[in-house]
Amino acid sequence: MRSTSPHEAVPATTPAASLVFTTVLSHGPLTRIEIARRTGLSSAAVTKAVRPLMEVGYLVEGVDEGARPAVGRPANPVRVDAGRALFIGIKVTGDEIIAVLADLCCRIRVARHVRLTGREPGAVLPSVTALVHELLTEADGFGVQVRGLGIAVSGDVDRAAGVVRYSPFLEWRDVPLAEIVETATGLPVTVDNDVRALTVAEQWFGAGVGLSDFALVTVGAGIGCGLVVHGRVVSGAHGVAGEIGHLSIDPLGPPCHCGNNGCVEAIAADPAILRAVRSATGRPVTTAAEALELARSGDPGVREVYARAGEAIGRAIGSVVNLLGSERVIISGEGLAAYDLFAEGIRDAFAASAFGTAAQCDVMTRPLPFEEWARGAAATAIQSFIGSDTH
Ligand SMILES: [Zn+2]
Repeated sequence: MRSTSPHEAVPATTPAASLVFTTVLSHGPLTRIEIARRTGLSSAAVTKAVRPLMEVGYLVEGVDEGARPAVGRPANPVRVDAGRALFIGIKVTGDEIIAVLADLCCRIRVARHVRLTGREPGAVLPSVTALVHELLTEADGFGVQVRGLGIAVSGDVDRAAGVVRYSPFLEWRDVPLAEIVETATGLPVTVDNDVRALTVAEQWFGAGVGLSDFALVTVGAGIGCGLVVHGRVVSGAHGVAGEIGHLSIDPLGPPCHCGNNGCVEAIAADPAILRAVRSATGRPVTTAAEALELARSGDPGVREVYARAGEAIGRAIGSVVNLLGSERVIISGEGLAAYDLFAEGIRDAFAASAFGTAAQCDVMTRPLPFEEWARGAAATAIQSFIGSDTH
């Protein structure tokens, strides 16, 4: 261990240093010339940004053993030293907490799941703290200090203030989560919306690498969306950018919990699908698995429910792409289990609503288990650590 305080940060967290670090993280190992080309910085600026990061050991020269061979690559590539620091990422769902211990390259070293006995802060927070202490003990085993903790929660989350303003699934309002968990664990805590956190991970390590404009749409218990515009994950002035679940696409459609009618979420999220399946079949269907089984057995009414949901999602994606010109839309979330039933509706509605060349946007699916969401939370902690969230 080279430092005693978890509050140590990368020195000289200039915008250039953060940019260089994240570029090497996503694309490394890279030579300084390649870094300059990818970041648009001058060679002198790259050298100036790399030096202090190398002095503290976050960047090192040479190719990681086990990574792609250096044969044929230019000399002296720079890479992130994955083992130099550890981070904890936590995703809180309606019924469980998923926690991962990740290295500085955000690779998962340890993962843990804990069932929740209740959703109120009084039930969730002790479980979070206990999991963090468990992972801190694991980190001791690696001999590396944990430098930060990221927590991802669905709903309206104010990252700058560290407050969960409103989480419908957890029924939390104005919970100062960062402050509470910082006090309980002694770690710097970053709290963010769960889909935005996953979007950071996709931008750095997933299907968004190298793209300046893309969207991540998650389907399941709710409909979420993370947006990357000009290379930055967008939060908006109020922290709720990307709420495509509440695009009202049918003013005469079913009522939404937000107070409007015909929102995408009121048509295509799991509870809406279950409601529609019950009214189409008269059966007391309560789980997504039962609804899926009915659809796969060929029940035309149930298949129609999924087709309508797919159409709503496809229209919402069309609106996103028309507004932002995204190069790619990644569809993920536990709702992907029904993707075969959604696919045609999504494809047709997207094609019908995308304007002109926006239709060339690559719409792809990508299953991302909850560990990946927790990894996204760890990525937000790394972001805070290297200062890339403030530049
Ligand atoms: Zn709504």
